[in-house]
Amino acid sequence: MPELPEVEVTRMGLAPSVEGRRIEDVRIRTPRLRSPLAGLREHLCGRIVERLERRGKYLIWRCRDECACTGFLVTHLGMSGRWRIWPLPAPEPGPHDHVDLVFSDCLVRLTDARRFGDMRWFDDDPGRHPPLNALGPEPLDAALTPGAFARRLRAHRAPVKEVLMAGRVIAGCGNIYACESLFEAGIHPARAASRISEARCERLLAAVRAVLERAIAAGGSTLRDFHGVSGENGYFALEAGVYGREGRPCPRCGAPIARIVQAGRSTYYCPHCQR
Ligand SMILES: [Zn+2]
Repeated sequence: MPELPEVEVTRMGLAPSVEGRRIEDVRIRTPRLRSPLAGLREHLCGRIVERLERRGKYLIWRCRDECACTGFLVTHLGMSGRWRIWPLPAPEPGPHDHVDLVFSDCLVRLTDARRFGDMRWFDDDPGRHPPLNALGPEPLDAALTPGAFARRLRAHRAPVKEVLMAGRVIAGCGNIYACESLFEAGIHPARAASRISEARCERLLAAVRAVLERAIAAGGSTLRDFHGVSGENGYFALEAGVYGREGRPCPRCGAPIARIVQAGRSTYYCPHCQR
Protein backbone atom coordinates (compact mmCIF):
# COMPACT_ATOMS: atom_id res chain seq x y z
CA MET A 1 0.00 0.00 0.00
CA PRO A 2 1.46 3.36 -0.99
CA GLU A 3 2.49 5.52 1.98
CA LEU A 4 4.02 8.98 2.25
CA PRO A 5 7.47 7.90 0.96
CA GLU A 6 5.96 6.23 -2.13
CA VAL A 7 3.94 9.36 -2.87
CA GLU A 8 7.00 11.57 -2.43
CA VAL A 9 9.06 9.34 -4.71
CA THR A 10 6.19 9.36 -7.23
CA ARG A 11 6.22 13.16 -7.08
CA MET A 12 9.96 13.28 -7.68
CA GLY A 13 9.65 10.73 -10.49
CA LEU A 14 6.83 12.51 -12.35
CA ALA A 15 7.86 16.14 -11.85
CA PRO A 16 10.54 16.37 -14.56
CA SER A 17 8.11 14.98 -17.17
CA VAL A 18 5.05 17.08 -16.30
CA GLU A 19 6.07 20.37 -14.68
CA GLY A 20 5.74 23.29 -17.09
CA ARG A 21 3.97 21.05 -19.61
CA ARG A 22 0.51 21.42 -21.15
CA ILE A 23 -2.06 18.66 -20.75
CA GLU A 24 -3.09 18.04 -24.36
CA ASP A 25 -5.72 15.40 -23.70
CA VAL A 26 -7.28 13.42 -20.87
CA ARG A 27 -8.58 9.88 -21.41
CA ILE A 28 -10.90 8.52 -18.76
CA ARG A 29 -12.01 4.88 -19.02
CA THR A 30 -13.72 4.48 -15.66
CA PRO A 31 -16.77 6.45 -14.45
CA ARG A 32 -15.48 6.70 -10.92
CA LEU A 33 -12.77 5.75 -8.49
CA ARG A 34 -13.52 6.89 -4.94
CA SER A 35 -15.33 9.88 -6.47
CA PRO A 36 -16.75 10.42 -9.99
CA LEU A 37 -14.21 11.26 -12.70
CA ALA A 38 -16.72 13.05 -14.94
CA GLY A 39 -15.78 16.67 -15.51
CA LEU A 40 -12.05 16.15 -15.00
CA ARG A 41 -11.43 16.30 -18.72
CA GLU A 42 -13.01 19.76 -19.01
CA HIS A 43 -10.95 21.04 -16.09
CA LEU A 44 -7.63 19.61 -17.21
CA CYS A 45 -7.43 19.81 -21.00
CA GLY A 46 -5.21 22.71 -22.09
CA ARG A 47 -3.98 23.47 -18.58
CA ILE A 48 -0.31 23.70 -17.77
CA VAL A 49 1.01 21.75 -14.80
CA GLU A 50 2.93 24.38 -12.87
CA ARG A 51 4.11 22.28 -10.00
CA LEU A 52 3.65 18.86 -8.43
CA GLU A 53 3.28 19.10 -4.68
CA ARG A 54 2.60 16.60 -1.92
CA ARG A 55 0.55 16.88 1.24
CA GLY A 56 0.49 13.74 3.39
CA LYS A 57 -0.34 10.94 0.96
CA TYR A 58 -1.98 13.32 -1.54
CA LEU A 59 -0.28 14.38 -4.75
CA ILE A 60 -1.37 17.88 -5.78
CA TRP A 61 -1.08 18.97 -9.40
CA ARG A 62 -1.04 22.79 -9.31
CA CYS A 63 -2.27 23.89 -12.74
CA ARG A 64 -2.90 27.15 -14.56
CA ASP A 65 -4.88 27.95 -17.65
CA GLU A 66 -4.16 30.52 -20.38
CA CYS A 67 -5.53 33.34 -18.20
CA ALA A 68 -3.11 32.29 -15.43
CA CYS A 69 -6.03 31.08 -13.29
CA THR A 70 -4.81 28.48 -10.85
CA GLY A 71 -6.62 25.21 -10.15
CA PHE A 72 -5.65 22.00 -8.42
CA LEU A 73 -5.95 18.33 -9.25
CA VAL A 74 -5.70 16.34 -6.02
CA THR A 75 -4.91 12.65 -6.43
CA HIS A 76 -4.59 9.77 -3.99
CA LEU A 77 -3.21 6.30 -4.75
CA GLY A 78 -5.63 4.46 -2.44
CA MET A 79 -4.59 0.86 -1.74
CA SER A 80 -2.98 -0.12 -5.00
CA GLY A 81 -2.64 2.88 -7.32
CA ARG A 82 0.45 3.96 -9.20
CA TRP A 83 1.38 6.48 -11.86
CA ARG A 84 3.69 5.59 -14.71
CA ILE A 85 5.13 7.57 -17.58
CA TRP A 86 5.02 6.21 -21.13
CA PRO A 87 6.64 7.81 -24.17
CA LEU A 88 4.21 8.17 -27.09
CA PRO A 89 2.93 6.05 -28.64
CA ALA A 90 2.03 4.35 -25.34
CA PRO A 91 0.99 0.69 -25.11
CA GLU A 92 -2.72 -0.14 -25.21
CA PRO A 93 -4.30 0.37 -21.77
CA GLY A 94 -5.09 -2.67 -19.63
CA PRO A 95 -8.28 -3.25 -17.59
CA HIS A 96 -6.91 -1.39 -14.54
CA ASP A 97 -5.54 1.62 -16.45
CA HIS A 98 -8.23 4.18 -15.60
CA VAL A 99 -6.86 7.58 -16.60
CA ASP A 100 -4.22 8.94 -19.00
CA LEU A 101 -2.98 12.53 -18.86
CA VAL A 102 -1.53 13.10 -22.33
CA PHE A 103 1.35 15.52 -22.95
CA SER A 104 2.97 16.31 -26.30
CA ASP A 105 5.51 13.49 -26.13
CA CYS A 106 4.43 11.24 -23.26
CA LEU A 107 1.48 10.25 -21.15
CA VAL A 108 1.16 9.55 -17.46
CA ARG A 109 -1.18 6.69 -16.66
CA LEU A 110 -3.00 5.88 -13.43
CA THR A 111 -3.26 2.14 -12.81
CA ASP A 112 -5.32 1.01 -9.82
CA ALA A 113 -6.51 -2.60 -9.52
CA ARG A 114 -8.53 -2.09 -6.35
CA ARG A 115 -10.00 1.32 -7.28
CA PHE A 116 -9.62 2.98 -3.89
CA GLY A 117 -7.65 5.78 -5.52
CA ASP A 118 -9.07 9.26 -6.01
CA MET A 119 -8.85 12.25 -8.37
CA ARG A 120 -10.64 15.51 -7.61
CA TRP A 121 -10.53 19.02 -9.02
CA PHE A 122 -10.43 22.19 -6.86
CA ASP A 123 -10.79 25.73 -8.19
CA ASP A 124 -9.07 27.16 -5.13
CA ASP A 125 -6.58 26.06 -2.48
CA PRO A 126 -7.46 22.44 -1.65
CA GLY A 127 -5.86 22.89 1.77
CA ARG A 128 -9.01 24.79 2.78
CA HIS A 129 -11.35 21.89 1.95
CA PRO A 130 -11.86 18.27 3.04
CA PRO A 131 -9.94 16.02 3.10
CA LEU A 132 -6.77 18.16 3.18
CA ASN A 133 -8.02 20.67 5.76
CA ALA A 134 -8.05 17.93 8.42
CA LEU A 135 -4.37 17.06 7.98
CA GLY A 136 -1.79 17.96 10.60
CA PRO A 137 1.59 19.48 9.73
CA GLU A 138 3.96 17.74 7.34
CA PRO A 139 6.39 15.55 9.31
CA LEU A 140 9.38 16.56 7.18
CA ASP A 141 8.59 20.30 7.26
CA ALA A 142 11.31 22.01 9.30
CA ALA A 143 8.66 24.53 10.44
CA LEU A 144 7.28 21.78 12.69
CA THR A 145 9.41 22.14 15.83
CA PRO A 146 9.88 19.28 18.31
CA GLY A 147 8.24 21.42 21.00
CA ALA A 148 5.16 22.10 18.87
CA PHE A 149 4.90 18.40 17.96
CA ALA A 150 5.10 17.43 21.65
CA ARG A 151 2.35 19.92 22.55
CA ARG A 152 0.07 18.65 19.78
CA LEU A 153 0.69 14.98 20.59
CA ARG A 154 0.23 15.35 24.34
CA ALA A 155 -3.17 16.98 23.85
CA HIS A 156 -4.57 13.49 23.08
CA ARG A 157 -5.47 10.74 25.53
CA ALA A 158 -5.78 7.96 22.94
CA PRO A 159 -2.97 5.40 22.38
CA VAL A 160 -0.04 7.12 20.67
CA LYS A 161 -0.06 4.75 17.69
CA GLU A 162 -3.70 5.60 16.93
CA VAL A 163 -3.02 9.32 17.35
CA LEU A 164 -0.12 9.16 14.90
CA MET A 165 -2.18 7.27 12.32
CA ALA A 166 -5.19 9.59 12.56
CA GLY A 167 -3.15 12.22 10.72
CA ARG A 168 -4.26 15.28 12.70
CA VAL A 169 -1.17 15.68 14.86
CA ILE A 170 1.12 14.88 11.95
CA ALA A 171 0.21 14.09 8.33
CA GLY A 172 0.93 10.93 6.38
CA CYS A 173 2.29 8.62 9.10
CA GLY A 174 0.65 5.34 8.05
CA ASN A 175 0.73 1.96 9.75
CA ILE A 176 4.21 0.82 8.76
CA TYR A 177 5.87 4.12 9.59
CA ALA A 178 3.96 4.56 12.86
CA CYS A 179 5.12 1.10 14.04
CA GLU A 180 8.71 1.64 12.97
CA SER A 181 8.94 5.15 14.45
CA LEU A 182 7.58 4.03 17.83
CA PHE A 183 10.08 1.16 17.85
CA GLU A 184 12.93 3.51 17.02
CA ALA A 185 11.84 5.91 19.77
CA GLY A 186 11.31 3.09 22.33
CA ILE A 187 7.69 4.06 22.98
CA HIS A 188 4.96 1.46 23.60
CA PRO A 189 2.24 1.85 20.93
CA ALA A 190 -0.61 1.57 23.46
CA ARG A 191 0.72 4.31 25.75
CA ALA A 192 -1.64 7.28 26.06
CA ALA A 193 -0.16 10.15 24.03
CA SER A 194 -0.87 12.53 26.92
CA ARG A 195 1.36 10.43 29.20
CA ILE A 196 4.54 10.62 27.13
CA SER A 197 7.17 13.03 28.42
CA GLU A 198 8.07 16.01 26.29
CA ALA A 199 11.61 14.67 25.78
CA ARG A 200 10.28 11.34 24.49
CA CYS A 201 7.82 13.12 22.18
CA GLU A 202 10.73 15.01 20.70
CA ARG A 203 12.61 11.75 20.24
CA LEU A 204 9.53 10.35 18.49
CA LEU A 205 9.46 13.20 15.96
CA ALA A 206 13.15 12.61 15.20
CA ALA A 207 12.35 8.89 14.71
CA VAL A 208 9.40 9.63 12.37
CA ARG A 209 11.65 11.86 10.28
CA ALA A 210 14.52 9.37 10.18
CA VAL A 211 12.26 6.47 9.17
CA LEU A 212 10.49 8.46 6.42
CA GLU A 213 13.74 9.87 5.06
CA ARG A 214 15.34 6.42 4.91
CA ALA A 215 12.35 5.10 2.96
CA ILE A 216 12.37 8.04 0.53
CA ALA A 217 16.10 7.60 -0.04
CA ALA A 218 15.60 3.87 -0.69
CA GLY A 219 12.74 4.62 -3.11
CA GLY A 220 14.72 7.26 -4.95
CA SER A 221 16.96 4.53 -6.27
CA THR A 222 13.95 2.95 -8.04
CA LEU A 223 13.00 6.14 -9.94
CA ARG A 224 13.44 4.57 -13.35
CA ASP A 225 10.45 2.34 -12.56
CA PHE A 226 8.20 5.32 -13.27
CA HIS A 227 9.21 5.17 -16.88
CA GLY A 228 7.56 1.83 -17.42
CA VAL A 229 10.73 0.19 -18.63
CA SER A 230 11.47 -2.08 -15.70
CA GLY A 231 9.70 -4.01 -12.94
CA GLU A 232 6.04 -4.01 -12.02
CA ASN A 233 6.60 -3.25 -8.38
CA GLY A 234 6.65 0.47 -7.72
CA TYR A 235 6.46 0.19 -3.94
CA PHE A 236 9.54 -0.41 -1.93
CA ALA A 237 10.17 -2.44 1.16
CA LEU A 238 11.58 -0.62 4.11
CA GLU A 239 14.03 -2.67 6.13
CA ALA A 240 11.60 -3.22 8.97
CA GLY A 241 12.66 -3.53 12.59
CA VAL A 242 9.24 -4.67 13.82
CA TYR A 243 6.60 -4.30 11.08
CA GLY A 244 5.33 -7.68 9.83
CA ARG A 245 7.79 -9.53 12.10
CA GLU A 246 5.53 -11.08 14.75
CA GLY A 247 7.36 -13.80 16.73
CA ARG A 248 10.74 -13.02 15.17
CA PRO A 249 13.59 -11.63 17.27
CA CYS A 250 13.79 -7.90 17.99
CA PRO A 251 16.87 -6.54 16.16
CA ARG A 252 17.87 -4.73 19.35
CA CYS A 253 17.29 -7.18 22.22
CA GLY A 254 16.31 -10.51 20.63
CA ALA A 255 12.92 -10.75 22.39
CA PRO A 256 10.06 -11.94 20.14
CA ILE A 257 8.17 -9.13 18.37
CA ALA A 258 4.51 -8.92 19.49
CA ARG A 259 1.40 -8.00 17.52
CA ILE A 260 -1.75 -6.31 18.79
CA VAL A 261 -4.70 -4.82 16.93
CA GLN A 262 -5.37 -1.09 17.39
CA ALA A 263 -8.21 0.69 15.60
CA GLY A 264 -8.55 -2.32 13.32
CA ARG A 265 -4.90 -2.33 12.22
CA SER A 266 -2.04 -4.61 13.23
CA THR A 267 0.58 -3.01 15.44
CA TYR A 268 3.98 -4.68 15.79
CA TYR A 269 6.31 -3.81 18.66
CA CYS A 270 8.96 -5.13 21.01
CA PRO A 271 7.47 -5.60 24.50
CA HIS A 272 10.95 -5.36 25.97
CA CYS A 273 12.33 -2.25 24.21
CA GLN A 274 9.13 -0.19 24.02
CA ARG A 275 7.68 1.32 27.22
ZN1 LIG B 1 13.59 -5.34 21.75
